Amino acid sequence: MNMHEKVGDILNSSIGEMYLGDLVTHGFDMSIEEAVENVIGGKISDINLARYGLSMVCWYLRSRYHVPLLNIGAGSRSTGNVSLRLDDDKYTIKPSGEDFRTIRPMDFIIINKKGEKLEGELKPSIETLLHLSTYEKRPDVNAIIHTHSPNVVLLSRKEKKDLYVEDHDNKEWLAKATFVPYEKAGSKELATAVSEALINNNVAIMEDHGLISAYPNLGDAVDAIEVIDEEAALRLIEITPKEERAPLRLKMVIAKHFQVPRNNQKQKKFN
Ligand SMILES: [Zn+2]
Repeated sequence: MNMHEKVGDILNSSIGEMYLGDLVTHGFDMSIEEAVENVIGGKISDINLARYGLSMVCWYLRSRYHVPLLNIGAGSRSTGNVSLRLDDDKYTIKPSGEDFRTIRPMDFIIINKKGEKLEGELKPSIETLLHLSTYEKRPDVNAIIHTHSPNVVLLSRKEKKDLYVEDHDNKEWLAKATFVPYEKAGSKELATAVSEALINNNVAIMEDHGLISAYPNLGDAVDAIEVIDEEAALRLIEITPKEERAPLRLKMVIAKHFQVPRNNQKQKKFN
């Protein structure tokens, strides 16, 4: 699958439609091609299409998974990071510390397989090594997404084990998320542990940190994040004693529907 097809998949998906709907809401009435051109403000190239696709994924995930109300320790404003393999020695990755919601396509950095910056103003994500190690070990993987999905973080504190997906809605390619014990965010140890866990699987749960999915295409990587997050939510309810369920459920419902500024600033810095 070439880059046009990869990004085309996203543009034609519900994420693409949602984003275009957003543009229309904001007074832009334009075709996909016009929207791409408008957003990146320049010539449409494969690399720019890749950046555009990634920024759409960030905006989409931000609307779903940024839940400051939960205040669970992971889930900084930047929400996680995403990357795409462009060719054997070229990758595009989210810059460090940028909010998923406000990131612009041209903010995405272009790096080589050593992690050296080829293009871009900002600093690459602190998990760049994790992404590159995974690409190196998995030649079939072209897209990696990392989120601080609240349900997954909560579950990883309660259950330190793999999460199996029993009803994966015809997604046979997704059977389980491999549990990876805690290592510091951005560390070489985390990059090694996660990339090794992803050799034989496409999704990993990082203890007290979040979720990572690695797939041949971006659409499956997004789907996996959603499926595992939902599975984690169900599992959390299942293992929570009945008397504690109501507050947990309420937290989840509130977190899903409202975005409230965080009060407690004592957060670990994740990216
Ligand atoms: Zn992180």
